[in-house]
Amino acid sequence: MHPVDPPAEPVSEPDAAPRRDYDLVVIGSGPGGQKAAIAAAKLGKRVAVVERRGMIGGVCTQTGTIPSKTLREAVLYLTGYAMRGLYGESYRVKQDITVQDLLARTHFVIGREEEVIRAQLQRNRVDLLAGAARFVDDHSIEVIGERRGEHQVVTADRVVIATGTRPARPPQVEFDDRRVLDSDGILTMEHIPSSMVVVGAGVIGIEYASMFAALGTRVTVVERRPQMLDFCDAEVVESLKFHLRDLAVTFRFGEEVSGVSVSERGTVTTLVSGKKIPAETVMYSAGRQGVTDELAVERAGLETDARGRIKVDEHFRTAVPHIYSVGDVIGFPALAATSMEQGRQAAYHAFGEPVHSMAEVSPFGIYTIPEVSYCGATESELTEKAVPYEVGISRYRELARGQIVGDDYGMLKLLVSPDTHALLGVHVFGTSATELVHIGQAIMGCGGTVDYLVDAVLNYPTLSEAYKVAALDATNKIRALEQFA
Ligand SMILES: Cc1cc2nc3c(=O)[nH]c(=O)nc-3n(C[C@H](O)[C@H](O)[C@H](O)COP(=O)(O)OP(=O)(O)OC[C@H]3O[C@@H](n4cnc5c(N)ncnc54)[C@H](O)[C@@H]3O)c2cc1C
Repeated sequence: MHPVDPPAEPVSEPDAAPRRDYDLVVIGSGPGGQKAAIAAAKLGKRVAVVERRGMIGGVCTQTGTIPSKTLREAVLYLTGYAMRGLYGESYRVKQDITVQDLLARTHFVIGREEEVIRAQLQRNRVDLLAGAARFVDDHSIEVIGERRGEHQVVTADRVVIATGTRPARPPQVEFDDRRVLDSDGILTMEHIPSSMVVVGAGVIGIEYASMFAALGTRVTVVERRPQMLDFCDAEVVESLKFHLRDLAVTFRFGEEVSGVSVSERGTVTTLVSGKKIPAETVMYSAGRQGVTDELAVERAGLETDARGRIKVDEHFRTAVPHIYSVGDVIGFPALAATSMEQGRQAAYHAFGEPVHSMAEVSPFGIYTIPEVSYCGATESELTEKAVPYEVGISRYRELARGQIVGDDYGMLKLLVSPDTHALLGVHVFGTSATELVHIGQAIMGCGGTVDYLVDAVLNYPTLSEAYKVAALDATNKIRALEQFA
């Protein structure tokens, strides 16, 4: 079980302090800001969220998670990619897929998500203040609307900064949002390019690389490091690379871009090694920058690092104890799911409510085609720490459900302690990986062992059955080891 932090000591205010407009003002309505606001409202606090017009739900809803995952779903459906194992490589649901086909679904989902968020804030009596926030002092925030002179100053006992990030744009590259763009620019593309260079093999870069490859775009990925996704299981990353190469993706690892030239006919990306890569479009996905430049944080007694990020302690408190910060603006892991949880925890801490933290079993989900997800340790981490483990593997092609859905490449890997049978890590590659990982996460979070999976009866035929097969594989190996000992 996980320890419960003792009730936090609320930040005390001098008795003579005037009653401020709000108990909490949250800057930014992305996942971190939303959950901080709702958590505080549920505690009976007076809360406001400041957000720019047209950005309700944050980067997550407007330009990041939701649009990219909806695009992926549209790509999977329209290309018939997931069914090609069953119906052949030439299987397509629609022959000439257009950007409009893809974006129609995206706009629909964004609209619905906006409605859900607005309704939730309203229901919980959270005021939504439209405009850009800027500190006046550590308790006062100016909200600047779009029209000239449209502004108000609100005061708050506590503040949560959840302003997120924007794509970093290297100064030597000229972005025209048509031929040279970043991940935001994907959402305003006019047509699907026949070829594309993706600069940066981080999560966002590789997710989009796989989507365009599935659409038939010839993709070249350029990455400065010798590898990609090196925080994931090495075997899973190998499988992913194999699949992407199969979709005609070319990788250029250990290579750096020296320049991009643009003409009406397309682009040429030049690498420091002298190679030149012609392509219709270049997408930069080379890191993100904290959105703090307009906040005037110095007026609140705060500072940011060179990448615009804010430093916090384990309770998400900044250097000024009544100002908290959560989400991408505080850096790693910069995921929507973790941002939400940070928001909830920050609000609880700010108002003296006990907090449970289970950060050590937070999952990672990478929505490439095919998808990747994991929770807990990797093999290389365990080896580095000299922690013994046994591996249990299940391959989808050996599961009835794997055959039914036409996934013959997926796999689930369990890392198990031979001494205690505790689950140390779960790694999934293939259909529904980002959903399946939660079974392992629940067992790890509750301190369970692989024995549960050996004994439990699971629905058949399901992909979840992979857990039972992998658990049996691991325990058989452990038993064999014990017989030799
Ligand atoms: C292409 C892409 C795909 C992604 N896919 C996934 C995924 O599959 N899964 C996942 O978990 N994560 C994913 N992420 C990351 C995820 O979107 C972020 O982790 C998450 O959005 C961060 O939430 P946040 O609370 O920090 O705020 P954000 O969502 O970044 O929103 C911050 C908000 O603050 C507002 N703001 C900034 N400054 C001010 C100001 N001065 N005044 C008022 N408002 C302000 C902005 O307008 C913005 O709306 C993806 C990101 C991108 C870019």
